[in-house]
Amino acid sequence: MGRLFLIGYERGMTVLGMYSKNPGIVYATPHNTEHIAHVTYVNSGALRQDNRSNIDYFIVTGTLDERVVTEKSVVLHQRDFSPEMADIERKHSINWNIISRFRHLEDTIRNVAIKDIYAHAYGKPRPLEVSNSRKVYSEDIKSEATIKKTRYANIDINGKQTFLPDCILDLNLDFANWCISGISLDGKLSPLNSCDYCYASYKHSGYPNIYHVSKKHLIEQITEAKKERAQKDLSTRYLRLGKRTEAGYDLFYEHILTTLEACLETGISVVFPTKFLQFDKNIAELLKRTDSTLLFSLGNDKFEKGPCLYGRTNNWRIEQAKKFLDFGVRAVPYVLIDAIKENGGHFFSRVLNEAMTFPLVQLIPIKIRQRALANTILGGWQSLIEGQEDDLLGYSCGGYEQSQSHSRLHIDVHTSIKQHIMNNNGCVRMCSHNNNTMWCGKCFMTGENGRIDSIKKVILEKKIQRRKKK
Ligand code: SF4
Repeated sequence: MGRLFLIGYERGMTVLGMYSKNPGIVYATPHNTEHIAHVTYVNSGALRQDNRSNIDYFIVTGTLDERVVTEKSVVLHQRDFSPEMADIERKHSINWNIISRFRHLEDTIRNVAIKDIYAHAYGKPRPLEVSNSRKVYSEDIKSEATIKKTRYANIDINGKQTFLPDCILDLNLDFANWCISGISLDGKLSPLNSCDYCYASYKHSGYPNIYHVSKKHLIEQITEAKKERAQKDLSTRYLRLGKRTEAGYDLFYEHILTTLEACLETGISVVFPTKFLQFDKNIAELLKRTDSTLLFSLGNDKFEKGPCLYGRTNNWRIEQAKKFLDFGVRAVPYVLIDAIKENGGHFFSRVLNEAMTFPLVQLIPIKIRQRALANTILGGWQSLIEGQEDDLLGYSCGGYEQSQSHSRLHIDVHTSIKQHIMNNNGCVRMCSHNNNTMWCGKCFMTGENGRIDSIKKVILEKKIQRRKKK
């Protein structure tokens, strides 16, 4: 989500500002706020009038989601209105779109926006062209975002495998830098709807641009990656589709087919984690021919607002997974769990039980960096890493440690989970790591053995293997 949020105080009201540089972008109204205005202005140093940024303003009406008031939120509006600000509206050709029922707040909106743009433009060159400001009143502010293809999608050779060499994901590919779960049904940016436990949502940006995908270009990139990796004694066999974003959304149907065709021609198998992929025979056929693994990510609808808005509930995903499985695809439920709780903990045990009806299942223990979310899902924050006694609900039982980035990582695995995964090489495997241990199920790739091992040992083994090859 980046630096999207700003809290200012004006005439006793708390005003929230959300920013975008892409024309036509409008933010969906966060919970406990009211949308009061959408403002556009010409950027500092811009040569043309259409080089505009947008700001959506909201008044806060209740308790805000803790993710809105981030450490990066900036309080700018406590300053007084100064004479230098008087010229801002003309200099930046501000256009005002004010929600009709908040017309009475016009002065507040004006003060906040002018101070805001003044602070942002301070010390930067003024726009070269000036035009008259415009003001309109609307019942609702519609998103004008239209999907555009920009550059070609690039294969990324860095990822989890770079720091955890047992992981077999050699290549990664995303079709955009934003995730559909963070976009509302009417095309507005809705970052708080991304899955609460998404590890990449803070990196999402660039909506509504998506990438071009061409088979020729992908084959060239895969060939190049193979050469580059071979020089480091690394094989190149597996590509993860959707490293930071959801690649299975309908918009990317042609992208998916093209990518799978490129993989088929270059002998690459795909690991495809998804919450959005609808059953389709053409995709299924190519997944089979590339000997790929389709991982249907499962969790709890309560924490996955975006996918559920699109009807991609956990039940829907299980249905799609069954259809792919019946077609002969290696479709595997990829189930989020609290690894130290019996049967994955009460938020995930229902879905885990359903997943267990599939021939293959991969478990993924939750790692949490936000305190409030850890409190809700894991039942604690500090208590998780202090090995305290269970309370009456079975919470606060320790079993977690802290990563360098302050995430809570499970140390332990509950006996009920251990009974499922055994040596991690059977039909139920786990993908996880903490500060010392790695559980890798190899995403059920043909001929690969899942394992549980010390991270140090895994890294040492890889070094020795490479030395021997030389
Ligand atoms: S199971 Fe292993 S190969 Fe698959 S994503 Fe996890 S670490 Fe990588």
